[in-house]
Amino acid sequence: ITPLPKPARPRVLAVSNQKGGVGKTSSAVNLAAALAEGGLTVLLIDMDPQGNASTALGIDRHADAMMGVYDVLVADRPLLRTVRPCPDVPDLWVAPATIDLAGAEIELVAIERREFRLREALDRLRQQLARNRIGAPDYVLIDCPPSLGLLTLNALVAADQVVIPIQCEYYALEGLTQLIRTVGLVQESLNPSLGLGAILLTMYDGRTRLAAQVAEEVRTHFPAAVLRATIPRTVRISEAPSYGQSVVTYEPNGVGAHSYREAARELAQRAAAKSQEGERA
Ligand code: ADP
Ligand code: MG
Repeated sequence: ITPLPKPARPRVLAVSNQKGGVGKTSSAVNLAAALAEGGLTVLLIDMDPQGNASTALGIDRHADAMMGVYDVLVADRPLLRTVRPCPDVPDLWVAPATIDLAGAEIELVAIERREFRLREALDRLRQQLARNRIGAPDYVLIDCPPSLGLLTLNALVAADQVVIPIQCEYYALEGLTQLIRTVGLVQESLNPSLGLGAILLTMYDGRTRLAAQVAEEVRTHFPAAVLRATIPRTVRISEAPSYGQSVVTYEPNGVGAHSYREAARELAQRAAAKSQEGERA
């Protein structure tokens, strides 16, 4: 395993697409594991009430007295209190989603600065870590729910960049315009430093013309954003979560692990290059 470059500044990436089933959770989990495997410290925040990312990383989100993102967003609990280590990936931490997160979308409406809850919790986490002389995680990855509601809005307000997984299927680009418009609106009004980080093509089936056509179309529309690495459709990626593992540890030498490692490397290299530009400027 070759080490990945550290970003000069900790990065927060929101993995988002309001379409369900496009590979958000798989990508958040496996990119997080691949970044950690590459020697970086990573925190995955599960913002989807379904909690699939938490389960996929071996966290028992139904455990008694388990605190999660809900407690942070709604009950003002420190994010640090919710964070658990991923059992089989060192340096990978998870802020799990418990069932009550499903209610947060509605409860948040009545809360002051409702769009800034996660951002403020992350600021507080960094301060708490700094007081204990612990560095902030190199990467925070946020697994977003399949909607553009307040949970996703909190993720976009807290993030430096959005990572958009796109399934290489019919209607792949449907909804993308709306997502990119939302990112633009958040950037104008709530989070000026938000950028479109990367588009990741997922569930690529090399045997079909359709997958190749979709991939080409997305690359034509967003030449700079699309990662070179493409995630193939493979059953290992879909079965790894039932073992509470990322595909990176479940089948370390398979194509799934390999492709997510490649995607993680591109992300890390871009972030490292970006910080150098920033330093020069
Ligand atoms: P989302 O979070 O966008 O809803 P998921 O990551 O949960 O998407 O993926 C939807 C379904 O597709 C899940 O059952 C998942 O296991 C499966 N899946 C995701 N990526 C792949 C892949 N590359 N190959 C095969 N199955 C995949
Ligand atoms: Mg999901």
